[in-house]
Amino acid sequence: MLLIAFFHFLASFVSPGNNINTDSLVAVARKNVSTYIDLNNSLSAYYSIDNKGVSIYESANSKLNNKVECKIFWSELPTFKYLLATVSYDSLLNIFKNKGDKKFDFSAAKNKNENLVPDTLQLLKGKKIAIDPGHISGDMELGKIEYKYLRLKKDSLKGIQTPIELIEGNLTLATAHFLKEKLESQGATVLLTREKSGQSAFGISYDEWLKSANNKTFEDAYANKEITLEEKNRFIKKRNRSDIFQTYFKFADMRERALKINNFHPDLALVVHYNVNEKNIPWTGVTPKNFCMTFVPGNIKNEYFEKLENRLELLRLIITNDIESSIALSSNVTASFEKVLQVPLATKKDAEYLEKESLETKGDGVFIRNLALTRLIHGTMVYGESLYQDNEKECKLLSELTTSINGISTSVRVKQVANAYYDAILRYYLPMTSNK
Ligand SMILES: [Zn+2]
Repeated sequence: MLLIAFFHFLASFVSPGNNINTDSLVAVARKNVSTYIDLNNSLSAYYSIDNKGVSIYESANSKLNNKVECKIFWSELPTFKYLLATVSYDSLLNIFKNKGDKKFDFSAAKNKNENLVPDTLQLLKGKKIAIDPGHISGDMELGKIEYKYLRLKKDSLKGIQTPIELIEGNLTLATAHFLKEKLESQGATVLLTREKSGQSAFGISYDEWLKSANNKTFEDAYANKEITLEEKNRFIKKRNRSDIFQTYFKFADMRERALKINNFHPDLALVVHYNVNEKNIPWTGVTPKNFCMTFVPGNIKNEYFEKLENRLELLRLIITNDIESSIALSSNVTASFEKVLQVPLATKKDAEYLEKESLETKGDGVFIRNLALTRLIHGTMVYGESLYQDNEKECKLLSELTTSINGISTSVRVKQVANAYYDAILRYYLPMTSNK
């Protein structure tokens, strides 16, 4: 059963319009046979080669009855090579035994909750993946200070008796845990920049951090050009919880996330966020709008170059392939958001920050945007915004806490979002569309 689902999954990445030079592939296969494998034509009952692919038969009788044991179509050659290079021998035998003459068929994998790939294939063995669950707040109180908290009034919600409260920091954390579990089941090593509700990237809550902060904390921040002289003096004089959070702590926390990720040296980094309709302020009512998008590095402004770290990042982005590899990964992520979650892809006109602060890329729904974490995280990365929390349908789905992970109560919708990221990562590593 799982293997059949796996075929469905793989098949979605073999585009039917591939321009494959079939003649040369047929010629190579026939030459292999006539020159090296079956010089006197005694095996011909077991195979056939045609302009669609290569078929293997269990016996002469099977071939007579046209009962194919395993056919690899030319368009499936990259998939087959990838499987040879990655999956266990047992899995390979299973795939061979079950394939028949059907193409990898994707139609059944549309079920959003389906486990698309059997875990045993270990497709991500040896890969290091970092996940950053966006924001910090685990409760409404800090959620309000962080401005990452929604309370949708009941009069805006049809058929709902109580207001809906959503804390983005908990949505991202549950998503990260679901995703970590799935990636690890495929053999990946996964880092989370924070593990518990209400925890910052420093491993403690904001209030614990604030308690431990002393004058030197703010003097150092000033020396590092993270706050102004006026801010330093203000913080030392009066420890305003909300002021220090908004002016300094949330940025220090972001730098800590980037530091953790960069020191882990991952193959991929994912920054997980949930969006809102920016025009729906103060987010007490719902919106019919819903879009998905991702962000990648670039479009840096020189106002950032006062800081040493940003000049380093400028050099890195100029000299490496990080932007292009991030666009490739992010294109997979937005495609999965659209397919798995059924959320439309954003275009430039759909939000002001896309229109004014972002650049389009060749990837649908993928934008270059100079956010702290797109700028600071090294290597291949994606900053994902899967859906709008304040959308009239999404808010209800997100508030139905019918499942849980590592002690966090959450919704099936969050699990689907994790599945969408997972689907995208697997596709990133399955070179289905290349014919090399
Ligand atoms: Zn966010």
